[in-house]
Amino acid sequence: MQTHASIQARPPLSRRARTLWLAGLALVMAAIFSVDTTTHYEVAAAVFYTLVVLIAARVLRGRALLWLAVWCIGLSVFSFALTPHGDLHAGLINLAISITAIIMVAWLVIKMEAARDAAHAAQAQLLRLARVKRLDGLTTAIAHEVNQPLAAIVTSGHACQRWLGQDPPKLAKAELALNRILADAARASQIVTRVRSLSRGEPVQAVAFDFNAAVMEVLALSTDELERHGIELALELAGNLPRAFADPVQIGQVIGNLLLNAIEAMADKPDKAHVLRVGSILKEDTMILTVADSGAGIPAEIQAHLFDAFWTTKADGIGVGLSISRTMIEANGGQIWAESAPNGGAVFSISVPVEPRP
Ligand code: ADP
Repeated sequence: MQTHASIQARPPLSRRARTLWLAGLALVMAAIFSVDTTTHYEVAAAVFYTLVVLIAARVLRGRALLWLAVWCIGLSVFSFALTPHGDLHAGLINLAISITAIIMVAWLVIKMEAARDAAHAAQAQLLRLARVKRLDGLTTAIAHEVNQPLAAIVTSGHACQRWLGQDPPKLAKAELALNRILADAARASQIVTRVRSLSRGEPVQAVAFDFNAAVMEVLALSTDELERHGIELALELAGNLPRAFADPVQIGQVIGNLLLNAIEAMADKPDKAHVLRVGSILKEDTMILTVADSGAGIPAEIQAHLFDAFWTTKADGIGVGLSISRTMIEANGGQIWAESAPNGGAVFSISVPVEPRP
């Protein structure tokens, strides 16, 4: 699968884990504050606030991290004011060192965040590219196939004009040219209906592969995007599945598309807590993967168009992801379908054949 280039990211923290981290950090800050206040000026305990800022970068970002740094500086100054003993001059130097260290660490962590954001954006772009690559093949196929009958129609049209313009007009020849025009027009319209099968492009390279591992590989690509949008991932992959038999690259592209759509659907509703449920089960001779989101769901009027080519409800959408996904899944002997979940989100499912028994 084409996922080796994924940027390894830590798994997103659940809400509970996040709260525990923050509570732990508050405790550490309280401990540093009390040691800093009760020890002599010469003991630069405040410098340990830099560790707090570093660790907090796991759960806090941007402005929140900046505020934490400001709090740490405030606590250092407050401790200094409360400390009753020691060499005041050494204390002032230690305070200045601690504050400088806190500011520098916060600045570096925020810079690091910006670099990571750029990496996230590049990774999301990679997922999008998988779609656009397919679009490229689709438009080339349409242009090539439709161009031939159109050129023939123009040639026959000129001929027809010539036969009719003669004196007397050559009606029999003009009729033949007209028949050719009608036949070519019919061919052009057949091509448009054939476009879906043409969009298969490269032939399917079916091999036996571990279905759950393939799902995990694509998920690894999406981890940063999930984290960035605060989406919790719930994995419900069945154990002991037989191997799937399909083109793993194409199946990976379809799964990537479904994940990206699910993330986009949930990112559209940022005020809600979101969970992405990814599950696999075995049903008779097929493996079924479900991708369930907690986004806006699929209203009835949208359901009918979901898999239409160039149909989108997104301002910057292309509307080919699902159409091409369907083409690819069907070329691999599987199916794709969508339902509205009872909780209001959308559930997309694909089926993939299992490896035939020897
Ligand atoms: P695009 O993402 O470029 O719009 P797609 O073919 O992937 O193209 O999707 C077509 C349309 O299907 C989307 O514009 C959206 O309206 C709908 N759709 C796809 N996935 C979801 C989802 N998870 N939840 C709600 N609507 C969806």
